[in-house]
Amino acid sequence: MIIVMKNDAPGGEIEQICEEMRDRGLTPEKIIGAHKVVIGLVGDTQELDPDHVQDVSPWIEQVIRVEKPYKRVSREFRHGQVSEVVVATPQGDVTFGQGHNIVVVAGPCSVEDEAMIIATAKQVKAAGASFLRGGAYKPRTSPYAFQGHGESALGLLAAARQASGLGIITEVMDAADLDKVAEVADVVQIGARNMHNFSLLKRVGAQDKPVLLKRGMSATIEEWLMAAEYILAAGNPNVILCERGIRTFDRQYARNTLDLSAVPVLQSLTHLPIMVDPSHGTGWAPYVPAMAKAAIAAGTDALMIEVHPNPSKALSDGPQSLTPDQFMALMQELAVVGNAMERWPQLATVS
Ligand code: PEP
Ligand code: MN
Repeated sequence: MIIVMKNDAPGGEIEQICEEMRDRGLTPEKIIGAHKVVIGLVGDTQELDPDHVQDVSPWIEQVIRVEKPYKRVSREFRHGQVSEVVVATPQGDVTFGQGHNIVVVAGPCSVEDEAMIIATAKQVKAAGASFLRGGAYKPRTSPYAFQGHGESALGLLAAARQASGLGIITEVMDAADLDKVAEVADVVQIGARNMHNFSLLKRVGAQDKPVLLKRGMSATIEEWLMAAEYILAAGNPNVILCERGIRTFDRQYARNTLDLSAVPVLQSLTHLPIMVDPSHGTGWAPYVPAMAKAAIAAGTDALMIEVHPNPSKALSDGPQSLTPDQFMALMQELAVVGNAMERWPQLATVS
């Protein structure tokens, strides 16, 4: 249930309503917008009559029941106000959010060695990326495939962060590694295979770093939003949703089906920022530019693109990785679409 306050409702009145709701065993969450304050009520509101809540104060404009199974992530919970995820990086704050400039995250699938990760970081930064991605712990389908260099790769990401000034996004697969990952990462990634790992979701929800939540490869949008709800319910409001392709019947030409319709669908359902990953979405480098441009046209807030200095030698996901030169050329094309959408240059988001 949400309580929408009238414009310019006094702070003391809002506090009193929150207190009253606490007395009724509910947890009020205040969302302060440009003109209005909305109070989201979490807890068992089944028995609560919206008309009775309305009578609590003359400053209440409206009381609305949120019928969806997810609450905090729903668009209604913030009464239509979108949320921003502001990430502190060595170069300053970068803002992810609907209506902000597009943020680009780029880098190799896996961190392979120090020279490659630092060189790639500098190259993607020169092309205009704000974040370096790179896996230290890799969720591989085969137990015999390269599993990532683990903790030592985290050290290399820290070195690349320092050398380039880029923020770092890297995946945590196991709650036992979370503290180490969160120490280096500016944004902690939950991969597609762990979207349903509820205990891991609760753990990343209970720490402070923003979370990039990838869509499970067979997850419905509602399941994905419920996974995000776990993170918000555990206390962390800073979640970015990443569409990375889903499994459909045809895998002959593309690794996954990139569900770009998820972008406008999510915009209608949630206030959270949205990212699109055309690299895992297509699995094939020549298809990445078209889908990256389409994602911007569809309204994504961010892009994740795999870039490797020598894709044919990559230890994972070489076929879908762009070279640094290809990435540089792509960024120029993206700027054209980004400008048309009035969401470029992304440098404007770096303060
Ligand atoms: C990745 O980002 O490297 C990755 C493994 O992605 P996903 O979880 O989407 O497969
Ligand atoms: Mn990958």
